[in-house]
Amino acid sequence: MSGKSLASERRFSSVLIANRGEIAARVKRACLEMGLTPVPIASQADAAEAPSLAEGGPLCIGPSTASKSYLNQAAVILAARVSGAGAVHPGYGFLSENADFAAALEKAGLVFIGPPASAIRIMGDKIAAKRAMLAAGVPCVPGPGEPLPDDVGVIAALAEEIGYPVIIKAAGGGGGRGMRVVRSSAEIAEAVSLTREEARRAFGKPELYMEKFLEKPRHVEFQVLCDEHGNAVWVGHRDCSLQRRHQKVVEEAPAPGIDPALAAATGERCAEACRQIGYRGVGTFEFLYENGAFFFIEMNTRLQVEHPVTEETAGVDLVHEQLKVAQGEAIDIAAFSGTASGHAFECRINAEDPESFAASPGRITLARFPEGPGIRVDTHVYDGYRVPAYYDSLIAKLIVHAPTREEAITLMRKALAETRIEGISTNLPLHVKIFNDPDFVAGAVTIHHLEKRLKEGFPAHA
Ligand code: ADP
Repeated sequence: MSGKSLASERRFSSVLIANRGEIAARVKRACLEMGLTPVPIASQADAAEAPSLAEGGPLCIGPSTASKSYLNQAAVILAARVSGAGAVHPGYGFLSENADFAAALEKAGLVFIGPPASAIRIMGDKIAAKRAMLAAGVPCVPGPGEPLPDDVGVIAALAEEIGYPVIIKAAGGGGGRGMRVVRSSAEIAEAVSLTREEARRAFGKPELYMEKFLEKPRHVEFQVLCDEHGNAVWVGHRDCSLQRRHQKVVEEAPAPGIDPALAAATGERCAEACRQIGYRGVGTFEFLYENGAFFFIEMNTRLQVEHPVTEETAGVDLVHEQLKVAQGEAIDIAAFSGTASGHAFECRINAEDPESFAASPGRITLARFPEGPGIRVDTHVYDGYRVPAYYDSLIAKLIVHAPTREEAITLMRKALAETRIEGISTNLPLHVKIFNDPDFVAGAVTIHHLEKRLKEGFPAHA
């Protein structure tokens, strides 16, 4: 059987973890649980905080700057070779959605724990992704899955056809950059030329596309899991509407108030899209949800920061599943046919000032996290840990799971009250305000809600 021979070729016993922070700790634990040897790596800044190599600490792969360490493909591949690792887990961020890196690993005889390079490439180009989604019957934001022509007259006619407001987006855009909202025909020529210039400079790709700008959407996303034997399942949905500058702050599963039949139909279309592009591993389809309808915006071809809320409600370990399918195993489809059980929230705890949001690196003098039924903390920090200034400010994820949304909110309030981090500033006070905000507590706020509260202030609470 070809499946068997493929599986035996892909077997590995040790996994290089090409990441840092909480996700490196999370992947390391999953490897140990599955009898695999984790191989941690670190930049100089992170290595300074870790045990030495002789004491089982990480392999230092380069200077503190990410471009010279965690983003240095040659250094990561060399570390895998030197350590004898058979596979590389990229975590999220860094090289996790880099098709060239996935291809380079395969070429070096290493297993990339993620989808094939070809699937990353399609989804990394937003126009190609939209076209693939339209072909699979996934509902998309109104607007063609085609690049904009040069002729401004043709572009203006297209905008009239879609109906203002429209949004112009760079095919290679990411991180909330490379997009511009246009509200009238008078603005269109300038918006196109500015966005094209930005796209060329920031992403090296001048292609733009246009779609309807939705005014009051929620961000709702679907988790998928696929193997190389043609099995693809969707594993629940999450609401990640609470965002600041397009960065998620709080996530929950399931997304509240979604019609189960619509969710099932949309989730199944996502799974079908995965079958069509030969997807493997975990992935997330991000949608805007407005007036009872879903509109695809992009796919993330990796594990998400917010994966724990799905794990808690679906009763699955997504990193275990990643490790299994990377070795050629088939998914146990029957295990994913159940619906979500209970409700989960995740608070992203960042080392930052809760008012100005300026990064707050430095020594954590005390770190106390809550414990107890329904509480999970994913973190790499401890008393005396020094948060380096070089990377993302995420220091911990506080996750709660309870039978109902109301109980989960009560549990999160308690968990937040029991969390103490001293020596640096964190956004814990912001999370306390969010979990006492009546609109958030009622559920189903839009992607603009948090920014509005930050501008206008939170209602006072007892
Ligand atoms: P990125 O890859 O930069 O994260 P996305 O395509 O996921 O870009 O869009 C980021 C954010 O921009 C979305 O979460 C949403 O807030 C906003 N956005 C994108 N497309 C639209 C749209 N058609 N209508 C309204 N808001 C949008």
